[in-house]
Amino acid sequence: MLQDFLSLLFPEICNACDQPLARGERYICTECNVKLPYTDLHLPGATELNYLQQRFWGKVPVRFAFSYLHFRSKGRVQRVLHKLKYKGAQELGEHLGRRYGTLLAEHGYAAHFDLVLPVPLHRLKLRRRGYNQSDGFAKGLAEALQIAWSSKVLERAIDSDTQTKKSRLDR
Ligand SMILES: [Zn+2]
Repeated sequence: MLQDFLSLLFPEICNACDQPLARGERYICTECNVKLPYTDLHLPGATELNYLQQRFWGKVPVRFAFSYLHFRSKGRVQRVLHKLKYKGAQELGEHLGRRYGTLLAEHGYAAHFDLVLPVPLHRLKLRRRGYNQSDGFAKGLAEALQIAWSSKVLERAIDSDTQTKKSRLDR
């Protein structure tokens, strides 16, 4: 009763479309859950030689390269990223990480990984923002895959703010 009253006054908003969430929905509404642009790179066939993996050719050997969602400007994913980066939505990051980890585990990938390492922020940016938006996703991912994660292993030496032109994929 109190919860209903509170959600009438302060409705929880979908992080992807900014519409009020219905009862039972958390973080992202049902419609957005269906319509988010999933990459499906984990599906058999797609993982063999995917476009993400090709980005690493000649740089570093990688066994798998996955990405949960396609970036589309002015769309649901951009709104989600904005909330992760600037609105402190760490629980949202964990939620998305858990969902993706569950999907990867269902497809038998859990045994291939030992540790989840979030992409680090430069220490100055970390100080400014107060948190690393990748930590929540890493935590949720690791939880669902039932492996460890750590934000202490990697360190960013160069502040990427100085790189003015970032491609869609880099984000
Ligand atoms: Zn929505």
